[in-house]
Amino acid sequence: MKTKYGKPIEPKRFQANIIADTKGWAQRMKERAEEYGIRAEEYVSACPVCKSKQYISLVTVYGFDYVQCKKCAHVFSTKRLSQEQLNTFYRDSAEYAKQYTSEDQLAYRMRHISGPKIKYAMSFVPKVKKGTWLDVGSAVGDVLRCVESYRGWKAIGLEASALSVKTGREVLKVDVRQELFQDFVRKNKNEKFDVISFFGYLELITDPLKELRLAQGLLKKNGVLVIGEANGNSFSTLLQKSFPEYSMRHLLPPPVIQQFTKQSACVALQKAGFTPSAFWNFGMDFYEFTKYLVLLIPRFQETSVYSFLMDHTNEFQSVIDQEEYGDCFMMIAKRS
Ligand SMILES: [Zn+2]
Repeated sequence: MKTKYGKPIEPKRFQANIIADTKGWAQRMKERAEEYGIRAEEYVSACPVCKSKQYISLVTVYGFDYVQCKKCAHVFSTKRLSQEQLNTFYRDSAEYAKQYTSEDQLAYRMRHISGPKIKYAMSFVPKVKKGTWLDVGSAVGDVLRCVESYRGWKAIGLEASALSVKTGREVLKVDVRQELFQDFVRKNKNEKFDVISFFGYLELITDPLKELRLAQGLLKKNGVLVIGEANGNSFSTLLQKSFPEYSMRHLLPPPVIQQFTKQSACVALQKAGFTPSAFWNFGMDFYEFTKYLVLLIPRFQETSVYSFLMDHTNEFQSVIDQEEYGDCFMMIAKRS
């Protein structure tokens, strides 16, 4: 498999609201998880990817037990909200859209986060005069804007959150639709796409294999599948195992009900009729580590050590990425 490591990033440019109040953010994430924990009544006893019932305990975050499958290394929560409850959570949740509403942060995201991801994916897509791209779980649609900056490309996004759809249509002028993937597939049976992407989506749904299989049926013969997910085997996972009481991202209940690893993503893709061909590991683990220091050490954020670490995030992160311990990855796959 073709492999790539590292992607430079400047957290200060798009995480301003979290950096300004890290303690408050962590507290809100904890309260939200505990509030929803009471309503989570669905229990999972087998790995959502390979169906094995052999797993080991990984970490407990705000009352949710995350475990790791012994067979395929997939990470999942043994307790979760039902898919219906999750759909309501996203439809009504303003939390997700809020991070993206500042136009400056949005522009930064497109240039440095979604832009490089689309460029990477495009390098594996067969050259076409007119291309169609479907992004599932598109949030405000920054991916769509990046795709449409390539000549001849048209993109559609599907998103559950009403606020994200509104922001995307009004601010970015992209075709984001408030629709579930399975409903879209049912209504557009005869449509075929050159590319289908899932960014940070599969970890939020109860049956990722089902959605991957739907994507397989909706792709053209030479079509490309792109997934971008959090990495269950990462330095951020180690941070949470060591200090679960400060969790504010990554394995975060109630939305994150599972996490892929390189191994479990390969198993899932193969089961759904794809052949994985490229893997890119990168992440924000070192920035995450710095946030933990802010929470653990009084007045740390006022020190010159903090400024030094924040100014050299990318250099420190490269050590983590080289170990394939970056908390994000992208995988490219073709129809088998
Ligand atoms: Zn498994």
